Amino acid sequence: PMAPTPERFAKIMRVLRLRQPTLTVLMDEVNKPHNLSAIVRTCDAVGVLEAHAVPPKHGTLAAFEGHTYDATSGSAHKWVKVNPHADAVSAVRDLQARGFQVLATHLSQRSVDYREADYTRPSCVLLGAEKWGVGDEAAELADQNIIIPMYGMVQSLNVSVAAATILFEAQRQRLAAGMYEQPQLAPEALAALAFEWAYP
Ligand code: SAM
Repeated sequence: PMAPTPERFAKIMRVLRLRQPTLTVLMDEVNKPHNLSAIVRTCDAVGVLEAHAVPPKHGTLAAFEGHTYDATSGSAHKWVKVNPHADAVSAVRDLQARGFQVLATHLSQRSVDYREADYTRPSCVLLGAEKWGVGDEAAELADQNIIIPMYGMVQSLNVSVAAATILFEAQRQRLAAGMYEQPQLAPEALAALAFEWAYP
């Protein structure tokens, strides 16, 4: 493989030093390629290291290995790995066991404004399917339920718009907390990824 130019390598290092391994999303059966692609592109922009997804029931795991992204992703899927999970409930448990608070985007008795959550903690935003939203069981299991206040005639936002709104609030809080000033990745992990990205 060809060696990257010094500029290219510098860019890769700059981006990896900004990556936030403690910020992620879990997409529960988000089934439209343009929504998946837009969410992954926003993840890259905010510094999400890896995302998580429960493939749509009628899709296949291959859907998350690069085949269902469209031009909307702007090739962001090359820089944000999407880990597949069997179902939302087991994915939530898995992420919680790894120390993430799961914030389900779900309207319930205990929902709070998304800006009230503390995204400087290890956080995973659970996003629901376009048709059904987040399932009740996964929402109950989540640490918090969050909602973007809606004052219009339409009840919900497009899932990729909701994801961007919440992830940029997370970015705002993490910037204020200085979390983009020092690499959040361990040195060995950063070096391994730099090598992978430089020699794709
Ligand atoms: N009919 C579905 C329902 O009742 O939940 C609508 C789902 S909405 C089109 C798709 C996803 O976008 C939701 O599961 C959630 O992840 C996100 N979303 C949309 N509007 C939202 C809002 N106001 N606050 C938080 N998340 C929202």
